[in-house]
Amino acid sequence: MIRNHRALALAMLAATLLPAGSALAGGEVNIYSYRQEFLIRPLLDAFTKKTGIKANVIFASKGLVDRMKAEGSVSPADILLTVDIGRLTNAVESGVTQPVNSAFLAKQIPPQYRGKSNQWFALTRRARVILASKERVKQDKIRYEELADPKWKGKICIRSGQHVYNLALFAAMIAHLGEEKAKAWLAGLKANLARKPSGNDRNQTKGVYSGICDLAISNTYYMGKMQTNDKKPEQKKWAASVKMLFPNTDGRGTHVNVSGMVLAKYAPHKANAIKLMEYLASDEAQKIYAETNHEYPVSDHVPWSDLVKSWGVFKADDLTLDKVASLRRKASEMVDEVNFNAGPSN
Ligand code: FE
Repeated sequence: MIRNHRALALAMLAATLLPAGSALAGGEVNIYSYRQEFLIRPLLDAFTKKTGIKANVIFASKGLVDRMKAEGSVSPADILLTVDIGRLTNAVESGVTQPVNSAFLAKQIPPQYRGKSNQWFALTRRARVILASKERVKQDKIRYEELADPKWKGKICIRSGQHVYNLALFAAMIAHLGEEKAKAWLAGLKANLARKPSGNDRNQTKGVYSGICDLAISNTYYMGKMQTNDKKPEQKKWAASVKMLFPNTDGRGTHVNVSGMVLAKYAPHKANAIKLMEYLASDEAQKIYAETNHEYPVSDHVPWSDLVKSWGVFKADDLTLDKVASLRRKASEMVDEVNFNAGPSN
């Protein structure tokens, strides 16, 4: 019995390793993904059903761009999926991508959310917002600039200043305020921290719940992850203790970041890869992709999930993410210059 099981398992394994062309007329496409498989599997299955193209995924939490570089022209990768403008532009700068000139992608994806030279494309958006204590924070509006106001002294929780999410926000502040004012702002924010930057975004909301701080800086989808966390129900309490404030929504708009995709420079199945990229940017796929992780679709005309809608409407900053990317290094230097990660005491 056990032997039969093993034989069956081996046969199944062999089947998955066989060249796919034999099984499906549409051929195949290979995806390197920093995004977890549960987020993309429903989309890939729908794509295969539609096109007959088999979608293979290699998931890893790091090292995929290095792997593509090392594999060079024999890399099996067709597409790389990742989050954050920093990681998308890092792939471009590492030389592992090629441009895609697709009228469909240009139609679906607003210009601020794709690379000027068509080397990267966003699929979903997340805003970097302030989760404020319902109990202790009376105001329902805020600006990022205000985070440096001494009235918040000892009241703000945030993760490491060098984390990609914060570097993108700080880079956007440099773009809007100029270097000098942005640096003074960052020093003011540091002086207002309740503790040394540490932990992830959800930890900051936990900080508000526990009374350590009044404001947590967080990406929007973590609110959804906490609100729906049946495995760790304590996170529902953290989420219930805060309200979501979209900074600068009455002005230039709230800072947004993206998840996105690039076409691999040596994509062995280039035509299939472009078909998949266009599918992922379609209304149908964006909606599913965004909903699975409580994000915003990249196209304004694609509806938001009910949970995401419940946080309210907001205006997104239309600063191009190429501009944000170009200032990330400067932002990182500033974080060190103001000694941000040392926290409020020095
Ligand atoms: Fe995240």
